[in-house]
Amino acid sequence: MTGKPRVWISRPTFPDIVARLEPYFEVTAEAVERVFAPAELASRLASLDAAIVGLNQRIGAAEVANAPRLRIVANLAVGYDNLDVPALTAAGIAASNTPDVLSESVADYTWALMLATARHMGAAERWLRAGQWRANGFKDWLGLDTRGRTLGILGLGRIGQAIAHRAAGFGMPVIYHNRSRLPAAVEAGCAARYVDKPTLLAESDFLVLAVPLTGESHHAIGAAELAAMKPTAVLVNIARGGIVDDAALAAALADGRLAAAALDVFEGEPAVHPALLALDNVILSPHIASATWDTRRAMTALAVDNVLALFGHGPHAGHPPSLVNPGVLAARPAP
Ligand code: NAP
Repeated sequence: MTGKPRVWISRPTFPDIVARLEPYFEVTAEAVERVFAPAELASRLASLDAAIVGLNQRIGAAEVANAPRLRIVANLAVGYDNLDVPALTAAGIAASNTPDVLSESVADYTWALMLATARHMGAAERWLRAGQWRANGFKDWLGLDTRGRTLGILGLGRIGQAIAHRAAGFGMPVIYHNRSRLPAAVEAGCAARYVDKPTLLAESDFLVLAVPLTGESHHAIGAAELAAMKPTAVLVNIARGGIVDDAALAAALADGRLAAAALDVFEGEPAVHPALLALDNVILSPHIASATWDTRRAMTALAVDNVLALFGHGPHAGHPPSLVNPGVLAARPAP
């Protein structure tokens, strides 16, 4: 024991970035990916002052019940549906996320999924690799052009706006729906038109989901919403599993009530609904929208900055840059 506060990093990250903690903390970092069961997680947290965790770790009241020293849980993600923030706040524990630094990478990946889906890239590649390419029919693999088609975005926040900014280059008009309409200047910057949710569903040729997972957004796209979409439409979920009812989506895709979909996130992931695995008109990826070298490094750096700052160190000393429950500092001042 060094007498320094203790920080634990639940998954392998980037040693050169994490090294910034070492002058001030006793640092323990996991060397292999694994998910800690609730009891083991609780026992890890019991002796810690800070934890940097991935979104595959669920942390709530039970996990922090015996962690009297714990001051911050820094999530390596912008979404924090894996954290019970009210429970952490009640325990006087700060929670932070990694906003902004991943928006451009996630937007790039969303467009990759949109284009790959519109042009059958997954199915065509599987067909070629299976040795089925004998000749090219003039009417084989016909896909959708993007130009002139309407891009709908549910959740025009940081990521949604980065997605919208790219639409001009593809000649796509943008419509969006949030719970609150954005200021006119933001709408103008994205060339995006506000519509209600029924209009978003009815008019989108490509519908991208970029909302956080909350009680309100759970199954925001279910059987009724899928039935309200154009049968020629493409649905892209880069937000969170659980926002789409995956069983209802698989049924709509199988029945031709929706043309195609792309999913980076799944209900109950890493499990994937078996009906989706059997379909050719859906592109599936293992939750990798933010997985670039630059972005995963920037996410790690922001998590480290939050921990350093809470303990009065680093470039933001005393002012963690991205707390999701900043009020907790008033109730339990930083060490
Ligand atoms: P953000 O800036 O908070 O934007 C979220 C947007 O969704 C806001 O415009 C918000 O506007 C809207 N919204 C929230 N709840 C809504 C609801 N029930 N109905 C309609 N609109 C709603 O968040 P962000 O940084 O863009 O990130 C968005 C989400 O993307 C994250 O929470 C995360 O789950 C996901 N994500 C996924 C990946 C991946 O690897 N696949 C990577 C990064 C992020 P209002 O508040 O006005 O409704």
